Amino acid sequence: MESLMMDKQSYRATLFAARAALSSQEREVAASRLKGMLAAFLETHDLPNTPYVAAYCSLPEELDATDALELFYGIGATVAFPCTHSHESMDFYVVDTRATAASELPAFITRPNKMFGEEICADFKRIEPCEFDIMLIPGVGFDRQKNRLGFGAGCYDRYLERIRKDCLCVGIAFDEQVVDELPSDPHDMKMDFILTPTQII
Ligand code: ADP
Ligand code: MG
Repeated sequence: MESLMMDKQSYRATLFAARAALSSQEREVAASRLKGMLAAFLETHDLPNTPYVAAYCSLPEELDATDALELFYGIGATVAFPCTHSHESMDFYVVDTRATAASELPAFITRPNKMFGEEICADFKRIEPCEFDIMLIPGVGFDRQKNRLGFGAGCYDRYLERIRKDCLCVGIAFDEQVVDELPSDPHDMKMDFILTPTQII
C-alpha cells in the first residue's frame, strides 16, 4: 500500500511538471480544441434534452473548460460547480459564472483548490449526485484504461460512488496528462471517457 502511494506521488510530480510546462498560447489552443472535441462527443452520446452537468472551474495550470461549457448552456443545461467542504465532502452548486462579475464570484469558484464551509454556498442551489447526467472531471493525470489520478484527497472517488450508473463520467485533460498506465487502488473510480484537445479515449 505504501509503495503504491509513493508510486502515485511520483506520477503526480511528473504530471504536474508536464502541464506546468505548457505555454499560455498552448493552453488557449487546447481550450478551443477541447470545445470541438466535446461537440463531437455530444453528437454521438445521448443526453436528456436539458441535462444536469457537473463542471469545474479550472486552476491556472488546468485545461480550461469554460468555452466548452457554452455547448451545454446552448442546450439549456443546468451547470453546477464543485465546492469542497472537506476531504470527505464535496457538493455541486449552480452558479451563473457567465452573468456574474469576476469580483462577485463566490470563493469556491475563484479558489477551487481550497475548502469552504457549507455556509458559503447558502445562496446557491445544490444539485444532488443522483441528478447529474454528465460530469466533466479534472485530474492530475489519466491513463488509457480510464483510471484517474487526482490531487490525493480522494474527493471525486467518494463523490462518484453516489452518482447514477448512467451518468457519464468524462475526464478532461491536456494530451500531456495522459499516460499508458497509472497506479490504481480498489477505491479509484474509473472514467467512462477521457477528452483531450485531440482525443476521445
Ligand atoms: P485521488 O483520487 O485524489 O488521486 P487517492 O485515490 O490517492 O486520491 O485517494 C486518497 C485517499 O482517499 C486514500 O487514502 C483513500 O483511501 C481515500 N479514499 C478514496 N476513496 C475513498 C472512499 N470511497 N472511501 C473511503 N476512502 C476513500
Ligand atoms: Mg483516486
